[in-house]
Amino acid sequence: MPTPTTARLMDGRELARRTVARAAAEAAAITERTGTAPCLATVLVGDDPASHTYVRMKQARCAKAGISSRHVGLPAETTTDQLVATLTELSEDVGVQGILPQHPAGPHIDERAAFEAIAPEKDVDGVTARSFAGMGLGIPGFTSCTPGGIVRLLDEYGVDPAGRRAVVVGRSPILGRPMGMLLLGRDATVTYAHSRTTNLAEVVREADILVAAVGKSRFIRGEDVKPGAVVVDAGYNPGNVGDVDFETARHRARLITPVPGGVGPMTIAVLLAQTVDAAARALG
Ligand code: NAP
Repeated sequence: MPTPTTARLMDGRELARRTVARAAAEAAAITERTGTAPCLATVLVGDDPASHTYVRMKQARCAKAGISSRHVGLPAETTTDQLVATLTELSEDVGVQGILPQHPAGPHIDERAAFEAIAPEKDVDGVTARSFAGMGLGIPGFTSCTPGGIVRLLDEYGVDPAGRRAVVVGRSPILGRPMGMLLLGRDATVTYAHSRTTNLAEVVREADILVAAVGKSRFIRGEDVKPGAVVVDAGYNPGNVGDVDFETARHRARLITPVPGGVGPMTIAVLLAQTVDAAARALG
């Protein structure tokens, strides 16, 4: 197959719009059936302005989709034990079906310990070890929202990872690691690259499916993209710039996600979809 000169864009905005519309219809049906709207609780420690903006944005998106939200704002000096107590309380609260701890919680907090206080059936952001294990073992459950959104995008554009070489650059617990596990679950041959990887360009050149999850502007050079590859850029850096040098990569890739408008909108769409799924199970 000849290499196309310009990649087709993977439109995350459009798929997110449809995903959210489906979640909203389901939320309305749950509300009608049970008299209770699905409810997502957000928990934020400290007063980081960007985190406040993210929480407000998520609440606004919930409201538009017919999901109610409850916000718990905790002071910056909150301890791990206090955060665990808050998350435990929300886990036991029948009025809440999904819990989203906004990161970062602060350097003095043991996030892992805190996340484990979230009841698995309310872990709609896919942050608990149980959800992580589920992604690794292929057990149905909640995915981390960004990798889950990427899998939906690949499906939408007919990308079957089976037998393909997938390279995930980045191995964070919420993004790179679960991403590789989900691709493995779809029978890709998966390689992880990270800050200790030597000859990164060589590894990247092997990728039929490349997922960039690094957090460095235009870090992946277009010339290292394998001709005809599928390029998914999860990076979101200052100035709305991704981790891939889009302008050069688009001339080698077959499919590519734009930044913005690719992976980003899918993350929140999956959060809403998983919240509605959790509510459907809890409320009937
Ligand atoms: P992170 O926790 O900082 O992880 C970054 C990863 O990149 C780490 O695994 C790190 O390796 C690796 N890395 C750093 N320098 C590298 C290098 N020189 N070569 C190869 N790998 C390198 O970041 P994250 O939370 O996963 O986020 C990554 C990006 O995705 C950010 O731009 C973030 O804004 C974006 N993001 C977007 C969404 C969305 O909704 N679109 C959601 C979440 C994150 P080590 O493990 O060895 O340190």
